[in-house]
Amino acid sequence: MIPVRDDLRVLEGYHSPQVDVRVRLNTNESPFPPPAAFRDALAAEISRIEWHRYPDREALELREAIAEWHGVSADMVFAANGSNEVLQTILLTYAGPGRRVATFEPTYQMHAQIARVVGSEVIEGERRSDFTLDPTEMQRIVGAHDPHVTFLTSPNNPTGLVEPAERVVELLDVANGLVVADEAYAQFAEWSALDLIDEARPLVVTRTFSKTWSMAGVRLGYAIGPTWFVRELEKVVLPYHLDSAKQIAGRLALRFVSDMDERVRQIVAERERVSAAMAAMPITVTPSGANFVLFRPHTISGREVWQALVDRSVLVRDCSGWPRLTDCLRVTIGTPSENDAFLDALKEIIR
Ligand code: PMP
Repeated sequence: MIPVRDDLRVLEGYHSPQVDVRVRLNTNESPFPPPAAFRDALAAEISRIEWHRYPDREALELREAIAEWHGVSADMVFAANGSNEVLQTILLTYAGPGRRVATFEPTYQMHAQIARVVGSEVIEGERRSDFTLDPTEMQRIVGAHDPHVTFLTSPNNPTGLVEPAERVVELLDVANGLVVADEAYAQFAEWSALDLIDEARPLVVTRTFSKTWSMAGVRLGYAIGPTWFVRELEKVVLPYHLDSAKQIAGRLALRFVSDMDERVRQIVAERERVSAAMAAMPITVTPSGANFVLFRPHTISGREVWQALVDRSVLVRDCSGWPRLTDCLRVTIGTPSENDAFLDALKEIIR
């Protein structure tokens, strides 16, 4: 075996174990496939692709469509293969050896993971025990470490909590580096940091087609930020990183905004129903602005509940062994019947 870099040897990698079950509520995907009309339009356009040619390197039509939807200009949009590749490109550009990246834990694990892979030092700020972020702790971390990149995830994963707008503003007041608002789940929440984007502010917002858009299989995400930020990322990302089919899929998806809004409404209504049902059991439920809910059973350990759910063919995310999340599980909101299957199984187990 050939040894890797010393700093990579200690990394564990990111895992999301799959188990063969009937009800899969563990990876925050949409429970609905994309609209049939989307699939037909996509098939028609894909049949016309000139496969012997490279795709549009700038992905201009896609970026224009995204920009128009958000009311910004295309030079404020950077698109890549899932928001994970967006995050990676941001960190390759603004972090790396000798640079610091701040996160507030618990949060999305890939922020720290990618930061370490590109050689940066990770500064882990702590959240309160109810997973909210104390502004004093946030200011202390930024003041003491002067990070080159600071992440806020809103709604946060795995907690589901929405960061109040004041937190982003307070962070921008003290940060010298880039502030990244990871908004993979923003459509399920009531506010977005998009309105704060400005040429003069070092703020960027990242989004994905994996959740609301029912397109996790496509791998498409994007960032919206100042034009100077997008220009720097374009230097770093590989040429032709977005294939022709993906560019078409993203552009066509944006014709179905009202279908997607309707799905978001359904999922939000189901989220409230599932949260209320769990709150009536001996379970702590973290208020969620996303398409999943974090919960902690009081009477049985989280690991035992996870296994008992799998025994009933329901898979949720087991966070119980993660730092700061003892006994916690995360359930993705599915279709009403999947949610019923989950709640019925849970009632049986908790009883
Ligand atoms: N950010 C957050 C907070 C996430 O939860 C996820 C998906 N687990 C991502 C980014 C990555 O999404 P994708 O790469 O599918 O766009």
